[in-house]
Amino acid sequence: MGILKIEQGTEFDFNIKWRLTNCCNFKCSYCARKNKRQNTSDINTDQKIIEGAIGDVARLIVSNNKPTKLSLIGGEVTLLDLPKILSKLFSLTNHLIKKIFIVTNFSREYTYFNNLIDICKDNGTILSLTCSWHNEFISLDTFVDKYNKLNKNSYLQIKFETVCTETNKDKVNKFINVCKDIGVDYSVDADLTNPNVNNLMITSNKTSRCKITKDDGSIVYCNNISELLKNFGDWNTRIIPLKDYYCSLDYTYVYIEQDKHVGYNNTLKTCKYKEPLKSFIIRKEPIICPKGCSLCGNMSVSKNKEDLIK
Ligand code: SF4
Ligand code: SF4
Repeated sequence: MGILKIEQGTEFDFNIKWRLTNCCNFKCSYCARKNKRQNTSDINTDQKIIEGAIGDVARLIVSNNKPTKLSLIGGEVTLLDLPKILSKLFSLTNHLIKKIFIVTNFSREYTYFNNLIDICKDNGTILSLTCSWHNEFISLDTFVDKYNKLNKNSYLQIKFETVCTETNKDKVNKFINVCKDIGVDYSVDADLTNPNVNNLMITSNKTSRCKITKDDGSIVYCNNISELLKNFGDWNTRIIPLKDYYCSLDYTYVYIEQDKHVGYNNTLKTCKYKEPLKSFIIRKEPIICPKGCSLCGNMSVSKNKEDLIK
């Protein structure tokens, strides 16, 4: 049985995923990016590049004029001066940014996060923080203590996540119990670098992240991308066979790497094409997928173009 439609990240009319840096101050054993560890000059260079790209990101948002969700991706994006970056961006975007989504290892001091929380609240923007607990670098007690010190308000959403490895299953169970105790949503992903990944835990207390409609009309939900790949794709290549489906890439979902747009190119027939953000214009309609997908973003796909037209 085939897939008719996959929906995820459809909460907003326009989604931007902006990769700010590859730097990280941790080096988790299971991290796909562990060789791109932070060094001071890299993060300073990244800060300059990102500050130089703010005007172009703002131009995209304002020209599209739709409620926008902006996901900031790393590395560890809180190594950057995000309060400065967001303050500038908010001043240029007429309150169109309705949600900022950040995944963080929660290593920065709590005052840094409280600053971010205040800046987002003042702009009327929801700050959605996914705090990743990496047992190899931070204790669960320290992690939860930091959470307790945050200025909670109605514009702040927090979720916890962690990774299940072959050796930390007991600690992951404790993590889940703590999340239940303090009433925080959680998700557990499997160590993807482990060849025996099928034996590891993948779970979440929310099951609505990916909605899959099958050809016969039946609907299946997946907890996270790992589960989607496991059930409908090729786990090893991390590809879901979506050739000739319509895709919302560049229409409702734009992916930016620092100051470059990454997307579909008619000549190259690929979704890894990069061009300067300055020359990128938002596509008017969904496109046909040329090959298949690693689902690196929040795009939605369907066999029917009309399903994706906003
Ligand atoms: S904190 Fe995240 S990005 Fe940094 S090394 Fe660990 S898994 Fe990788
Ligand atoms: S490969 Fe590109 S066009 Fe195809 S589903 Fe993925 S993002 Fe969309």
